[in-house]
Amino acid sequence: MKEIKLTTFCAILSIVNLVCFNIPFMVYACRNNDNLFLLISLAIVLLTLNFFVCYLVCFLLRRLGRILTAICHLISTIATYYVISYNTMMDESILRSFFNTRMEEAAPFVTWSFAACVIILGILPMIWIIGAKVNYGSWKRFGKAAGGSLAVSLLLVLCNAGQTLWIGSHDTELGGLTMPWSYIVNTCRIAIQNRNANAKEIPLPDASFSNNERRAVVLVIGESARKANCSLYGYERETNPLLSKVEGLHVLNAKSCATFTIAGVKSILEYEDTDALYEILPNYLHRTGAKVQWRTVNWGEPPVHGPEYLKRADLAQGVEEDRYDGVLLNGLRETIENSEEDKVLIILHTNTSHGPAYCQRYPSQFEVYTPVCDNVEQAAKAPQELINAYDNSIIYTDFLLNEIIDTLKTVQDRSCAMFYISDHGESLGENSLYMHGVPIKMAPREQYEVPCFIWLSEGYRNVREPDEIDQHWVFHSVLDLLDVESPAYNPEKDLLR
Ligand SMILES: [Zn+2]
Repeated sequence: MKEIKLTTFCAILSIVNLVCFNIPFMVYACRNNDNLFLLISLAIVLLTLNFFVCYLVCFLLRRLGRILTAICHLISTIATYYVISYNTMMDESILRSFFNTRMEEAAPFVTWSFAACVIILGILPMIWIIGAKVNYGSWKRFGKAAGGSLAVSLLLVLCNAGQTLWIGSHDTELGGLTMPWSYIVNTCRIAIQNRNANAKEIPLPDASFSNNERRAVVLVIGESARKANCSLYGYERETNPLLSKVEGLHVLNAKSCATFTIAGVKSILEYEDTDALYEILPNYLHRTGAKVQWRTVNWGEPPVHGPEYLKRADLAQGVEEDRYDGVLLNGLRETIENSEEDKVLIILHTNTSHGPAYCQRYPSQFEVYTPVCDNVEQAAKAPQELINAYDNSIIYTDFLLNEIIDTLKTVQDRSCAMFYISDHGESLGENSLYMHGVPIKMAPREQYEVPCFIWLSEGYRNVREPDEIDQHWVFHSVLDLLDVESPAYNPEKDLLR
């Protein structure tokens, strides 16, 4: 057998990968974007990135690397057959159901055409990948080939930075159709989620209540709300028409500890800044004996063990427009009033300003600022339309928070508090940045300066307003609001102290 250079070997494999396995990806991209430069860039990035990884794995792991590549090739064959035949994609939910499928349930999928496809496109090339005589070359050649391909990929990504909005709004589909990354990344995500769900959190020291006064706290976790677009912080548009009239509302200067949901929500719920998973606020208070309920239309929180956990479908009974965050308020008063426990904590995890389709987050009566863009392609051409939609989502948040306060005002025989803070901020086109997720050390202030409001009913001491707070103040302030005595309590981060 003739010897083949590793460069040629990897080039052949990445071309095969693009032509045989990424047709659905390219078709989807062509149908949804007519920017020729972007489409060509996507194809080249697929080629160069797969070349880079293939080269890296085969050069470093030699034969083992080729065996892994061959297995990947076979899985890509099966996955692509499945994607094309059933017009689907390799997203998280499909893979989850795949992993939960028993052998006898899978049998009907194995047809003659499936078998032929697997043998011709999967197994025969697999034999070649493992059996070929490959000349791995020197470290110098490795540096040139790997470095060159990576540089081209990065350059093209940078040249298409203006397309982040489009990619953001099609990320599920694009991610689910890119072979082999769709199933590799999503399988890793499922594994991480399963591990997290079973993760043992480090318990905090036992706590107790210092009295049996009846209290209820509603903690609202915001999504992508930024301080700069709230009129309560000086924004020129009236985006807080209702909260600005609430007597005794405290408006605090807050910073998020991260710029993405998973880390932001964790920071709100944990007692100090840590990479470890300590017992989070709802679990801790549940264990201490409070009534705790988690209501969510979002995701990404650390595992909630113990408290009642209600998702949109559980909350939607009798709600007309259950696709909006108002569903979180359904039965809120009844839950508080019917609780036998002296201390009640209800956490609402909202989704109100989640991008990029901000205009889909609020009911039509909140469309105060128009026109709004209903697709992101427009947003790049008419940035004001994106801001209009975002501002409307803040107005809707204002309405929801005011509703909660109105509800709490009429709760009988309990002191009540509403505490709102966003998980992180949002970029709306400043310096061509959109959405969020820039590492916190480099992030622009729009991505970490978040709105934070607290309202207390009579029966509570007043709160102080420090120059600036971070998300960990929530944990300690809520402990105090519910009269919890705990060695984990830090008075320096308590708004009531
Ligand atoms: Zn978020």
